[in-house]
Order: sequence, then structure tokens, then C-alpha cells
Amino acid sequence: MAKITFIGLGNMGAPMASNLLKAGHAVTVFDLSQPAVEALVAEGASTADSGRAAADGADCVVTMLPAGKHVEAVYLGEDGLLAALPAGTLVIDSSTIAPETARKVAEAATKKGLAFLDAPVSGGVGGAKAGTLTFICGGDNDTFERAKPVLEGMGKNIFHAGPHGAGQVAKICNNMLLAILMAGTSEALALGAKNGLDPAVLSEIMKQSSGGNWALNVYNPWPGVMDGVPASRNYEGGFLVNLMSKDLGLAFDNAVINQASIPMGSLARNLFQLHAGQGNGELDFSSILRLYKPE
Ligand code: NAD
Repeated sequence: MAKITFIGLGNMGAPMASNLLKAGHAVTVFDLSQPAVEALVAEGASTADSGRAAADGADCVVTMLPAGKHVEAVYLGEDGLLAALPAGTLVIDSSTIAPETARKVAEAATKKGLAFLDAPVSGGVGGAKAGTLTFICGGDNDTFERAKPVLEGMGKNIFHAGPHGAGQVAKICNNMLLAILMAGTSEALALGAKNGLDPAVLSEIMKQSSGGNWALNVYNPWPGVMDGVPASRNYEGGFLVNLMSKDLGLAFDNAVINQASIPMGSLARNLFQLHAGQGNGELDFSSILRLYKPE
């Protein structure tokens, strides 16, 4: 069992760190939010006064932070981890960030003799709690093989997408598709409801038909159709509209860099930004339904 430091105990990081504890690892945690730290300490984790102090003596560091600027601050900032970690430490960043930022951190880490992996996840808060996340990794083979036993404590499917940054590329492609699917699913459900159909019945029909998709199967956006999803608790918890907007921005920036055309992704980005601009940024992303079905 490894000594693991986990930084970033939000909607995703908290249950992920909890599963590492359950897997028998010695886990030290750090977050800027004291209540988030206390919840993990109550489950058996240790803590320290800073991310850097928490990482002291760790075999492996895992970060789960909101965006690239937080990842850069934690690793490359003045009190950043890279300056303090001894060579050979395994460093896994599971945040969703731009591939260029992941490569920048990876390059700095490699220069220090650290084994860095970008390992963004898919599966949502439900997957984080159940320990069934999909990890999409970018880095060299040795680092990937070394990280696997740690990642298996938090996830079920562990993919090696390619070199540094490749995990992030695959992740932003996936999330762009997810945003399109969630907006499209909301649109279809709202059209059916306008025609007097019961959204639960329509969902069941589409699930078994050619429109079936992940949103219908496990994350239905219509309140009351599915238990235990954000739609059934006023869109609280889950994956925030602000984070989905961030990911769609990453896809858009990446498309510009690579001269790729993403008309559906661009439309989804605009829809989520409109929704965020209407004061819904802190709601779960399935609340995009409200654009089609005002309360
Ligand atoms: P979140 O906002 O709930 O949590 C982020 C945590 O990081 C917060 O607790 C915050 O206090 C902490 N933090 C920020 N800066 C810090 C710093 N300098 N030091 C220590 N802690 C710091 O976000 P989340 O939903 O847990 O998502 C985290 C990442 O995972 C994001 O990149 C997101 O895009 C990605 N993601 C989220 C989901 C989801 O369903 N929520 C699914 C897949 C991927």
C-alpha cells in the first residue's frame, strides 16, 4: 500500500480520496476548504498546513483541481510541489485541463525526475463515489503501469491514450460529445413533453431505441424521472455548468489550434455559456434542460 497525498477535495476529489483510504492506502489530504479536509480526516486521512507539507514523504501525489490555473499554481507556483518533491515521485493530475498545460507541467516534472501522468476522469460524482471512474491517461508506459494500482483504487476502466497531454485530448473530445448529448436529450424530452408525453415514458422509449445514450441511461435531466441524479435534487452537486463551459472552451481552443471544425461543439458551448450567464453556473450541467423547459 502506498503513501498517497490527495489535493483537491471537491465533488470528485473527496469521494476519490475516500476510496483510496478504503483501498488501504495511507492518505494525506489538502484543500483550501477546511470542511472538505475535516470530512476526509474523519474518515481516517491525515492532513497538513499546505499542499507542499501534505506531499512531504509521499510515494504518489494525486491532484483533482478545477482548472489549469489551479494546476499550474499547485505544481509550478512559488510554493509549488515540483520544487519540493524528490525525484522518482509518481505525480498524477486528474483535473480536466488544456493538453498544452498538462504538457507544460509534465515537462517541468520530467526535468525534476518525477513520473508525471495526466489522468482526467469520466463517470461523474456517481462514478467517483462508486469507485467506477474511467481514467484516461497520458504519459509514458512505465509511469502508466506504475500508476495503475493507485488508479484501480478509484476506477474501473484505465485507458492509456498516448503521451503526455493525450489523456486531456481524449477527455475534452468526450466532454464535448457529452455536452452535445445532454443538450440534445433535453431538447427531445422537452419536445415530447410539449406534445403531452410523459418524460419518463419517452425516456424509456428512447433508451431502447436509436436515440439511447448515457444521459438517458444514467443521468436523466428531467426532474423526477430518475432517482439519485442531480435533476432530482434541484440540480445540486454533480458536474457544474461552469466546469462544462470550461471544458467546451478547452475543446474550442483546441479546435482553433488544430484547425478542426466543431460546429456542434461550438453550439453546445454557446448554449452552456448562455445558461451559465443566466445565473446557473453552480448547478449541475443537466440543468441545461431549463433552457428548453423554463420552470
Ligand atoms: P470542485 O470545484 O467541486 O472541486 C475542486 C476543489 O479544488 C475544491 O474543493 C477547491 O477548494 C479545491 N482547490 C482549488 N484550488 C486549490 C488549491 N490551490 N489547493 C488545494 N485545493 C484547491 O470540482 P470537481 O467537480 O471536483 O472537479 C474537479 C476536476 O474534475 C475539474 O477539472 C472537472 O472539470 C473534472 N471533472 C469533474 C466531474 C464532475 O462530475 N464533477 C467529472 C469529471 C471530471
